[in-house]
Amino acid sequence: MKEEMLKLINLQEIDSEISGFDADIASKQQVIADREKSIQDKQAAISACQKKTESLEQLQRDTNAEHEDAGTRIKERQNKMMQVQTSREHQALLKEIEENKKLLKNTEEKALQIMEEIEQVKAEAEELENLCSGEQELLAEETEQVNKEIKKIDTTRKKVVSKREALAEELQGSMLKRYNKLLIKRDGIAVVPIIEAVCQGCFMAVPPQQFNEIRKGEKLHVCPNCQRVLYFKEKQEEEAVAK
Ligand SMILES: [Zn+2]
Repeated sequence: MKEEMLKLINLQEIDSEISGFDADIASKQQVIADREKSIQDKQAAISACQKKTESLEQLQRDTNAEHEDAGTRIKERQNKMMQVQTSREHQALLKEIEENKKLLKNTEEKALQIMEEIEQVKAEAEELENLCSGEQELLAEETEQVNKEIKKIDTTRKKVVSKREALAEELQGSMLKRYNKLLIKRDGIAVVPIIEAVCQGCFMAVPPQQFNEIRKGEKLHVCPNCQRVLYFKEKQEEEAVAK
Protein backbone atom coordinates (compact mmCIF):
# COMPACT_ATOMS: atom_id res chain seq x y z
CA MET A 1 0.00 0.00 0.00
CA LYS A 2 2.74 2.43 0.92
CA GLU A 3 4.43 2.03 -2.41
CA GLU A 4 1.16 2.57 -4.27
CA MET A 5 0.52 5.64 -2.13
CA LEU A 6 3.93 7.07 -2.96
CA LYS A 7 3.18 6.64 -6.64
CA LEU A 8 -0.11 8.47 -6.21
CA ILE A 9 1.61 11.32 -4.39
CA ASN A 10 4.18 11.48 -7.12
CA LEU A 11 1.51 11.45 -9.80
CA GLN A 12 -0.29 14.30 -8.09
CA GLU A 13 2.92 16.32 -7.98
CA ILE A 14 3.44 15.76 -11.68
CA ASP A 15 -0.16 16.66 -12.51
CA SER A 16 0.06 19.82 -10.44
CA GLU A 17 3.22 20.70 -12.36
CA ILE A 18 1.43 20.11 -15.67
CA SER A 19 -1.56 22.22 -14.66
CA GLY A 20 0.90 24.91 -13.57
CA PHE A 21 2.31 24.91 -17.11
CA ASP A 22 -1.20 25.07 -18.54
CA ALA A 23 -2.13 28.01 -16.33
CA ASP A 24 1.10 29.73 -17.31
CA ILE A 25 0.39 29.26 -21.02
CA ALA A 26 -3.23 30.40 -20.59
CA SER A 27 -2.22 33.58 -18.78
CA LYS A 28 0.30 34.44 -21.50
CA GLN A 29 -2.37 33.86 -24.16
CA GLN A 30 -4.72 36.05 -22.16
CA VAL A 31 -2.29 38.98 -22.38
CA ILE A 32 -2.42 38.69 -26.18
CA ALA A 33 -6.22 38.29 -26.20
CA ASP A 34 -6.58 41.40 -24.01
CA ARG A 35 -4.34 43.38 -26.34
CA GLU A 36 -6.33 42.25 -29.37
CA LYS A 37 -9.58 43.19 -27.66
CA SER A 38 -8.22 46.62 -26.86
CA ILE A 39 -7.26 47.13 -30.53
CA GLN A 40 -10.68 45.93 -31.70
CA ASP A 41 -12.40 48.34 -29.30
CA LYS A 42 -10.36 51.21 -30.67
CA GLN A 43 -11.09 50.20 -34.26
CA ALA A 44 -14.80 50.13 -33.44
CA ALA A 45 -14.50 53.61 -31.90
CA ILE A 46 -12.66 54.84 -35.02
CA SER A 47 -15.40 53.60 -37.33
CA ALA A 48 -18.01 55.19 -35.04
CA CYS A 49 -16.08 58.47 -35.45
CA GLN A 50 -16.10 58.03 -39.23
CA LYS A 51 -19.84 57.47 -39.27
CA LYS A 52 -20.36 60.52 -37.09
CA THR A 53 -18.18 62.59 -39.40
CA GLU A 54 -20.19 61.45 -42.41
CA SER A 55 -23.50 62.40 -40.84
CA LEU A 56 -22.07 65.74 -39.70
CA GLU A 57 -20.83 66.43 -43.23
CA GLN A 58 -24.30 65.70 -44.56
CA LEU A 59 -25.75 68.10 -42.03
CA GLN A 60 -23.14 70.64 -43.10
CA ARG A 61 -24.19 70.35 -46.75
CA ASP A 62 -27.87 70.73 -45.81
CA THR A 63 -27.13 73.76 -43.68
CA ASN A 64 -25.08 75.39 -46.42
CA ALA A 65 -27.92 74.81 -48.89
CA GLU A 66 -30.38 76.34 -46.43
CA HIS A 67 -28.07 79.31 -46.08
CA GLU A 68 -27.83 79.82 -49.85
CA ASP A 69 -31.59 79.50 -50.25
CA ALA A 70 -32.16 82.20 -47.65
CA GLY A 71 -29.72 84.48 -49.52
CA THR A 72 -31.50 83.84 -52.81
CA ARG A 73 -34.89 84.59 -51.24
CA ILE A 74 -33.61 87.90 -49.86
CA LYS A 75 -32.40 88.98 -53.32
CA GLU A 76 -35.74 87.97 -54.85
CA ARG A 77 -37.73 89.94 -52.28
CA GLN A 78 -35.46 92.95 -52.71
CA ASN A 79 -36.05 92.91 -56.48
CA LYS A 80 -39.80 92.59 -55.95
CA MET A 81 -39.74 95.67 -53.72
CA MET A 82 -39.33 97.91 -56.83
CA GLN A 83 -42.53 96.54 -58.35
CA VAL A 84 -44.93 96.55 -55.41
CA GLN A 85 -47.61 99.21 -55.30
CA THR A 86 -49.19 99.08 -51.86
CA SER A 87 -47.67 99.65 -48.50
CA ARG A 88 -49.18 96.37 -47.33
CA GLU A 89 -47.28 94.41 -49.98
CA HIS A 90 -44.20 96.41 -49.11
CA GLN A 91 -44.56 95.53 -45.41
CA ALA A 92 -45.05 91.85 -46.22
CA LEU A 93 -41.86 91.75 -48.29
CA LEU A 94 -39.90 93.56 -45.58
CA LYS A 95 -41.09 90.99 -43.07
CA GLU A 96 -40.00 88.12 -45.33
CA ILE A 97 -36.61 89.75 -45.86
CA GLU A 98 -36.19 90.10 -42.09
CA GLU A 99 -37.08 86.45 -41.53
CA ASN A 100 -34.64 85.29 -44.17
CA LYS A 101 -31.90 87.48 -42.72
CA LYS A 102 -32.42 85.74 -39.37
CA LEU A 103 -32.21 82.41 -41.13
CA LEU A 104 -29.03 83.52 -42.87
CA LYS A 105 -27.47 84.34 -39.50
CA ASN A 106 -28.68 81.15 -37.84
CA THR A 107 -27.47 78.86 -40.59
CA GLU A 108 -24.11 80.61 -40.58
CA GLU A 109 -23.72 79.96 -36.85
CA LYS A 110 -24.92 76.42 -37.23
CA ALA A 111 -22.45 75.73 -40.06
CA LEU A 112 -19.65 77.04 -37.89
CA GLN A 113 -20.66 74.79 -35.01
CA ILE A 114 -20.82 71.76 -37.29
CA MET A 115 -17.38 72.55 -38.66
CA GLU A 116 -15.94 72.68 -35.15
CA GLU A 117 -17.64 69.43 -34.28
CA ILE A 118 -16.26 67.73 -37.39
CA GLU A 119 -12.77 68.88 -36.47
CA GLN A 120 -13.20 67.51 -32.96
CA VAL A 121 -14.40 64.12 -34.14
CA LYS A 122 -11.61 63.92 -36.72
CA ALA A 123 -9.02 64.76 -34.06
CA GLU A 124 -10.50 62.09 -31.82
CA ALA A 125 -10.29 59.52 -34.62
CA GLU A 126 -6.71 60.51 -35.36
CA GLU A 127 -5.72 60.06 -31.72
CA LEU A 128 -7.37 56.66 -31.67
CA GLU A 129 -5.58 55.67 -34.86
CA ASN A 130 -2.24 56.63 -33.34
CA LEU A 131 -2.99 54.63 -30.20
CA CYS A 132 -4.16 51.76 -32.33
CA SER A 133 -1.06 51.56 -34.49
CA GLY A 134 1.10 51.79 -31.36
CA GLU A 135 -0.78 48.88 -29.86
CA GLN A 136 -0.55 46.91 -33.08
CA GLU A 137 3.23 47.24 -33.02
CA LEU A 138 3.22 46.19 -29.39
CA LEU A 139 0.98 43.24 -30.19
CA ALA A 140 3.35 42.02 -32.87
CA GLU A 141 6.27 42.18 -30.42
CA GLU A 142 4.29 40.57 -27.61
CA THR A 143 2.98 37.80 -29.84
CA GLU A 144 6.48 36.92 -30.93
CA GLN A 145 7.72 36.96 -27.34
CA VAL A 146 4.76 34.98 -25.99
CA ASN A 147 5.04 32.36 -28.72
CA LYS A 148 8.69 31.87 -27.83
CA GLU A 149 7.85 31.54 -24.14
CA ILE A 150 4.98 29.14 -24.80
CA LYS A 151 7.18 27.00 -26.98
CA LYS A 152 9.71 26.81 -24.16
CA ILE A 153 7.08 25.91 -21.59
CA ASP A 154 5.62 23.36 -23.96
CA THR A 155 8.97 21.63 -24.40
CA THR A 156 9.30 21.20 -20.62
CA ARG A 157 5.64 20.25 -20.39
CA LYS A 158 6.07 17.45 -22.92
CA LYS A 159 8.91 15.97 -20.86
CA VAL A 160 6.77 16.07 -17.72
CA VAL A 161 3.83 14.54 -19.58
CA SER A 162 5.91 11.58 -20.69
CA LYS A 163 7.11 11.21 -17.11
CA ARG A 164 3.46 11.10 -16.11
CA GLU A 165 2.63 8.49 -18.72
CA ALA A 166 5.41 6.24 -17.46
CA LEU A 167 4.28 6.61 -13.86
CA ALA A 168 0.62 6.07 -14.74
CA GLU A 169 1.55 2.75 -16.34
CA GLU A 170 3.02 1.59 -13.05
CA LEU A 171 -0.25 2.18 -11.21
CA GLN A 172 -3.04 -0.34 -11.02
CA GLY A 173 -5.67 0.31 -13.67
CA SER A 174 -8.55 0.72 -11.24
CA MET A 175 -6.51 3.01 -9.04
CA LEU A 176 -5.50 5.16 -11.98
CA LYS A 177 -9.10 5.40 -13.17
CA ARG A 178 -10.23 6.45 -9.72
CA TYR A 179 -7.43 8.99 -9.45
CA ASN A 180 -8.13 10.47 -12.92
CA LYS A 181 -11.84 10.83 -12.15
CA LEU A 182 -11.09 12.52 -8.84
CA LEU A 183 -8.58 14.82 -10.51
CA ILE A 184 -11.28 16.16 -12.84
CA LYS A 185 -13.94 16.31 -10.16
CA ARG A 186 -11.70 18.07 -7.65
CA ASP A 187 -10.20 20.72 -9.87
CA GLY A 188 -6.82 19.05 -10.42
CA ILE A 189 -6.14 18.06 -6.82
CA ALA A 190 -6.88 14.40 -6.08
CA VAL A 191 -4.24 13.54 -3.48
CA VAL A 192 -3.62 15.75 -0.47
CA PRO A 193 -1.77 15.50 2.82
CA ILE A 194 -3.59 15.39 6.10
CA ILE A 195 -1.98 17.54 8.76
CA GLU A 196 -3.15 17.38 12.38
CA ALA A 197 -6.29 15.52 11.24
CA VAL A 198 -7.22 18.26 8.77
CA CYS A 199 -7.61 17.45 5.07
CA GLN A 200 -5.48 19.92 3.13
CA GLY A 201 -7.86 19.76 0.19
CA CYS A 202 -11.06 20.96 1.83
CA PHE A 203 -9.70 21.88 5.28
CA MET A 204 -12.20 19.78 7.17
CA ALA A 205 -11.13 17.60 10.09
CA VAL A 206 -11.49 13.83 9.76
CA PRO A 207 -12.61 11.70 12.72
CA PRO A 208 -9.72 10.75 15.12
CA GLN A 209 -10.15 7.03 14.46
CA GLN A 210 -9.73 7.51 10.71
CA PHE A 211 -6.82 9.88 11.27
CA ASN A 212 -5.01 7.23 13.27
CA GLU A 213 -5.51 4.73 10.47
CA ILE A 214 -4.26 7.17 7.85
CA ARG A 215 -1.23 7.70 10.03
CA LYS A 216 -0.48 3.99 9.92
CA GLY A 217 -0.63 4.12 6.13
CA GLU A 218 -1.78 0.54 5.69
CA LYS A 219 -4.82 1.27 3.65
CA LEU A 220 -5.90 3.90 1.17
CA HIS A 221 -8.11 6.52 2.79
CA VAL A 222 -10.23 9.23 1.33
CA CYS A 223 -11.50 12.41 2.95
CA PRO A 224 -15.13 11.87 4.08
CA ASN A 225 -15.94 15.38 2.94
CA CYS A 226 -14.18 15.92 -0.43
CA GLN A 227 -13.27 12.28 -1.28
CA ARG A 228 -9.66 13.18 -2.01
CA VAL A 229 -7.02 10.56 -1.27
CA LEU A 230 -5.30 11.41 1.99
CA TYR A 231 -1.78 10.70 3.17
CA PHE A 232 -0.24 11.50 6.51
CA LYS A 233 2.21 14.33 6.83
CA GLU A 234 3.95 15.63 9.95
CA LYS A 235 3.28 19.25 10.80
CA GLN A 236 6.97 20.18 11.09
CA GLU A 237 7.66 18.66 7.73
CA GLU A 238 5.04 20.89 6.16
CA GLU A 239 6.55 23.96 7.77
CA ALA A 240 10.00 23.00 6.55
CA VAL A 241 8.67 22.68 3.01
CA ALA A 242 6.99 26.07 3.28
CA LYS A 243 10.29 27.64 4.25
ZN1 LIG B 1 -11.21 16.88 2.17
